[in-house]
Amino acid sequence: MDKVYDIAILGGGPGGYTAALYGARAGLSTIVLEKLAAGGQMATTTNVENYPGFSEGVNGFDLAEKMQQGAERFGAESAYEEVTAVDFSGEIKTLTTMDGEYRARTVMIATGADPRPLGTAHENELRGRGVSYCATCDGMMYKGKTVVVVGGGNTAAEDAMYLSRMCEKVYLVHRRDSLRASHSYVKALEEKENVEIIWNSRVAEFKFDKKITGVVLENVNDASRTELECSGVFVAVGRIPNTQMFEGVLELDKAGYIVADETTCTSIPGVFAVGDVRTKPLRQIVTAASDGAVASKFAEEYLAEHREENA
Ligand code: NAP
Repeated sequence: MDKVYDIAILGGGPGGYTAALYGARAGLSTIVLEKLAAGGQMATTTNVENYPGFSEGVNGFDLAEKMQQGAERFGAESAYEEVTAVDFSGEIKTLTTMDGEYRARTVMIATGADPRPLGTAHENELRGRGVSYCATCDGMMYKGKTVVVVGGGNTAAEDAMYLSRMCEKVYLVHRRDSLRASHSYVKALEEKENVEIIWNSRVAEFKFDKKITGVVLENVNDASRTELECSGVFVAVGRIPNTQMFEGVLELDKAGYIVADETTCTSIPGVFAVGDVRTKPLRQIVTAASDGAVASKFAEEYLAEHREENA
């Protein structure tokens, strides 16, 4: 394809389409390359309650469609293609798909991060029916109920703390005998009366009818099994950023996230990381959307500087 876009965006989630909205609205030629459908992880959420402006919440798929339409209204293009390789070495960057090549002066990576699954049987089909990967998103649905949080890192500890404020009882299940989470979290959890830590255990089975009714825990030392009643299971065993394609190309942290601060600028000028895929303290729709707006501003600056240099 001969056209050279001002901005090419990999990933059509909230970060990607906010970047497209701001880019297109600033008069920059913009394309979003998305392998499936708009929305990313957001599109799988039935009711998004923590994105401002929707007093009753909003269906994630509908919100995704609106974000896409909002960007396309100002001329952003969408192509449903999977990018399989990138070349960021020149001033014009190249994105290769199964059908050809796209070229752009700036690139925004908004490919997201997927929650690491537990690997317990039926996990995927119970997603949205008691199994959740986001306490901030779904916690309120379990107000006054008993839930299990799985994991031993800062996310699990933070989720357990968060849920303890609305749930009757929170069990934190961890596969070892000490948490990886920071000391301050551990201390705060120990002080919570409605939080109980279950050590050296893994979720061997989900108990469910239509929704989760409990879990079977297995002690990793002696293989003994116990059943625990609960309404929800929050899986917090880490995330897997979709950055395999950028290994050796961009600076990544040890967990695989693209290193970028609030400016969204990466180790390569003209390449920006937007949303869950970058190093950041809170991965939410609203923070991804915010990144999209910021990336667009810095892309605009980059393009203006480079046009002046080439003039
Ligand atoms: P993490 O630090 O990688 O911890 C993942 C936890 O899940 C570990 O305790 C691990 O157990 C456990 N785990 C992994 N696979 C498992 C499996 N298949 N079954 C059961 N347990 C499993 O991930 P994270 O908690 O999401 O944190 C990611 C990064 O974000 C960390 O650097 C963290 O410090 C940071 N973070 C910071 C804050 C904050 O500062 N406020 C909040 C959240 C996250 P082991 O311990 O046995 O390996």
